[in-house]
Amino acid sequence: MKSHVKALVVGGGAIGTSIAYHLARAGWDDVMLLERDELTSGSTWHAAGLLPLFNMSYATTHIHKYSVEFYKSLEAETGLNAGFSIVGNLRMAQTDARMDEYMLYASTAETAEVPYEWMTPAQIKDRWPLVRTEDLKGAIYHPTDGYINPADVTMAMAKGARQRGVLIERKWQVDGYEWTGSDWRVTV
Ligand SMILES: Cc1cc2nc3c(=O)[nH]c(=O)nc-3n(C[C@H](O)[C@H](O)[C@H](O)COP(=O)(O)OP(=O)(O)OC[C@H]3O[C@@H](n4cnc5c(N)ncnc54)[C@H](O)[C@@H]3O)c2cc1C
Repeated sequence: MKSHVKALVVGGGAIGTSIAYHLARAGWDDVMLLERDELTSGSTWHAAGLLPLFNMSYATTHIHKYSVEFYKSLEAETGLNAGFSIVGNLRMAQTDARMDEYMLYASTAETAEVPYEWMTPAQIKDRWPLVRTEDLKGAIYHPTDGYINPADVTMAMAKGARQRGVLIERKWQVDGYEWTGSDWRVTV
């Protein structure tokens, strides 16, 4: 554990490891991540790992798009399989109001060039025969959505970060940090 660093990342969940990895990839050479317990021991451990490209926010859609491309490349870079599967995502609607909401999603998706398809209840049944479709108005289907194992992708990002020179230390709780004028002084 170093007491002074150029960049300090506190917490070894999906976000912290991603920040550490991307700082290193951007060329930062003195990055340290401190985790008070084990990597992935926070909320990342409990996440379902769904990767819906589709949402109401233009900015978030772009972040999701980047993430999906990044996860595909991470295994090649680190040799760790993060359980990334693109299986598609079917959002069904029982009301016209819900279909209206999906139309709003669709306009965001079009701007961000995220593919989607409209489906009738009969087409839903064709795709997933176990669904009861009598009370459905329709669905929007996102072929590029999927899921990933949150703990595994965190470990892969941690490995990628280490490969790029990031120092990752566990069992250190950060109690404070202070800018000295040239680096961060860390208190544990
Ligand atoms: C049940 C559930 C389902 C979810 N499903 C999804 C989903 O399907 N898709 C999706 O995208 N998101 C999902 N999420 C959300 C996702 O899990 C979180 O947004 C994400 O894991 C947050 O990552 P994080 O790194 O910010 O936090 P965390 O994983 O909580 O990591 C924070 C880390 O910081 C450490 N820490 C805290 N304070 C200190 C300190 N002072 N010093 C050192 N270390 C410290 C903690 O020990 C912890 O390991 C879900 C969450 C839950 C709970």
